[in-house]
Amino acid sequence: MINQDKLLNWFLKNQRKLPFRENKDPYKIWISEVMLQQTRVAAMLPSYEKFILRFPNITSLAESTEEEVIQYWKGLGYYSRAINLRKGAVYLKENFNSKFPDSLEDALSVPGVGPYTARAVLSIAYNKEFAVLDGNVKRVLARYFLFKENISIPSSHKALQELADTFLNSKNPGDHNQAMMELGAMVCLQAPLCMLCPIQKGCLAFEKGKQTELPIMGKEKTKLPIELKFFFLEKDERILVVKYKHRRFFKTIFTLPFLIEGSKLPVIYEDNSEFGKYLKEKEPDVDWLKTGKHSITHHDIELQQARFLLDNKNLQTLEKILSSKVPSLEIERKWIRKEDLKLEFASSIAGKLFATESQRKIARELSFTSKLRVRNEWL
Ligand code: SF4
Repeated sequence: MINQDKLLNWFLKNQRKLPFRENKDPYKIWISEVMLQQTRVAAMLPSYEKFILRFPNITSLAESTEEEVIQYWKGLGYYSRAINLRKGAVYLKENFNSKFPDSLEDALSVPGVGPYTARAVLSIAYNKEFAVLDGNVKRVLARYFLFKENISIPSSHKALQELADTFLNSKNPGDHNQAMMELGAMVCLQAPLCMLCPIQKGCLAFEKGKQTELPIMGKEKTKLPIELKFFFLEKDERILVVKYKHRRFFKTIFTLPFLIEGSKLPVIYEDNSEFGKYLKEKEPDVDWLKTGKHSITHHDIELQQARFLLDNKNLQTLEKILSSKVPSLEIERKWIRKEDLKLEFASSIAGKLFATESQRKIARELSFTSKLRVRNEWL
């Protein structure tokens, strides 16, 4: 039995039961592949289930609003992917009768669908002869073929794609691709479980005892340490949230106004807009609280927050700045109830900020009550 058949049999017996594998629905495979580009299966499943319950097909996603899709993407990060998914659904509704196309050319014409996603959906849903290459598959191939180049560099991608194409089981490309991904996720791990591997006989790295030395990967880039300082700008029990497309973070979602600081901060992170200057002016006048740490792909973030009560004069200045028609500024804004922050600011950071602000409020009220008590007792 050739190794591709052994791999397929292993997959058919051992695959994890996953909702997007159930009926090879191209829409569900598309959604799952996009979600899996940023997180592992176990972490994305709850979000996937909720997303599919609300948007069970292309039409329902196309007829939704951007805000709602972002809400259902919460916790997955990279919100531009959610926005592109919706754009893709609108395109498919208008041009392909709400069906995911079955040719590579048409699939690549869908907004937000790149070569990896197109190949994955076409092979898994329609059994088209395309080999896919994700991080897990690269690791398996690098070991199986004793590939000694750095797999992170672009030239290696081409070479690995050729190896993936050669190794593809053309009778069953969809299951073969899933089998490769599953083998990488379950057996050919960073510390590989070679004794359980269906393609051990034939794996060159295993034969040479090099399986733990491969794949060779590029050095991880060190993360940039930064501080994100969020403002609770308050008026009449409402707080300001903004969507500003010119900033480095949260371009596509509403957020609390914020400043970015850090000793190694590149110039492109600076906000020289009038609104940025306004916040900078307020920075020394408020009490900053440390909210906690947050880590994303390229940044280690220290979160801080401060509350600023807007009087009439401040409010007028702020409204004037936010209403000015400077094209590069493009700030959308709304005033919301503080308790709606987690709903409006679709990032896990919002939960941390809200919790800290609630504690601060309790501390403020307690201190006010104790002062009152002292005064009453004295009277
Ligand atoms: Fe990976 Fe080991 Fe299987 Fe080779 S034998 S593919 S190193 S798990």
